[in-house]
Amino acid sequence: QVTIDKIAAGEVIERPASIVKELVENAIDAGATSVKVEIKDGGISLIRIMDNGCGIPHEEVRSAFLRHSTSKIQSVEDLVHISSLGFRGEALSSIAAVTQTELITKTAEEELGTRYVIEGGREVSIEETGAPNGTTFLVRQLFYNVPARRKFLKTPMTEAGHVQDLLMHLALSHPEVAFIFLNNGQEKLRTSGSGKLKDVIYNVYGRDVAANLIDIDYEKGGLRITGYLGKPVITRGNRNFENFFVNGRYVKSPMISKSLEDAYRDFTMQHKFPFAVLHFHVDGEQIDVNVHPTKMELRFQRQQEVYNTVFEGVHRRLLEPEL
Ligand code: ADP
Ligand code: MG
Repeated sequence: QVTIDKIAAGEVIERPASIVKELVENAIDAGATSVKVEIKDGGISLIRIMDNGCGIPHEEVRSAFLRHSTSKIQSVEDLVHISSLGFRGEALSSIAAVTQTELITKTAEEELGTRYVIEGGREVSIEETGAPNGTTFLVRQLFYNVPARRKFLKTPMTEAGHVQDLLMHLALSHPEVAFIFLNNGQEKLRTSGSGKLKDVIYNVYGRDVAANLIDIDYEKGGLRITGYLGKPVITRGNRNFENFFVNGRYVKSPMISKSLEDAYRDFTMQHKFPFAVLHFHVDGEQIDVNVHPTKMELRFQRQQEVYNTVFEGVHRRLLEPEL
């Protein structure tokens, strides 16, 4: 089992940001309204994630670390739904296989919480402990037992950047969750959890961007696009300002980027890229999910139609007279 987990971990854990992604998504699944993430050395030596979610009952802690024991995929149909993309009950076992992991968790119903330590997939200790409601993960020394993979990690600065990008996208897709992110003790991100996307944009991008937003809500052919566009006065020299989410999940899509940029063409200078936070709401059936779960790329079944809808929705909005 330990070896299988170590191999499985190779599939799902590439870098500190992969771990942060899984643990934060678990926290959100657990109903957390507040998630605090701290990393040291880009997350290589330490990742600490604290949430105020439902916690894990003492008697379920061990099994949460067993591979596939909590698979959300009940049927083949589930695989069709983009929202099911994930590690399907492999995250905790994979993380534990390649790190030194400590978990402190308590449910509201329990008097005492649980402290669980597991290193390289081997249980070190499990005991009762006083703890606040919710869950804290401490994940230390990524790939300490897989030197071949440790070699592929980039500098702490680069890895920290990946974590920050990820958290920025998670914050933008979960305005209802208050996020705090610290890197080596320095606060890098803080959102209020107000539930308003605009507030998150303010927290992430600052006042200049937040003061130049155009809201959008456009629907056509079963595809709904909501969120914010930047006024043509705010642009960047690259695509880093473009954020797309499909059914709540951050994605990269050269096709959507192209469509967005084409819609802005008449309004911005050459080689300038617009600001956008766009959420796409679409039936799972319209998306191909035969992509690796850790990849952020995805394909719509009708790419051309999506291109047209994005172009139309954005272009029309930019033409509206009050802008
Ligand atoms: P999955 O999320 O696919 O079920 P994971 O390995 O990520 O698989 O997590 C295993 C289980 O551990 C979850 O199903 C959940 O019951 C529990 N769990 C993990 N993280 C948390 C958390 N932060 N709060 C409450 N429960 C959690
Ligand atoms: Mg999970």
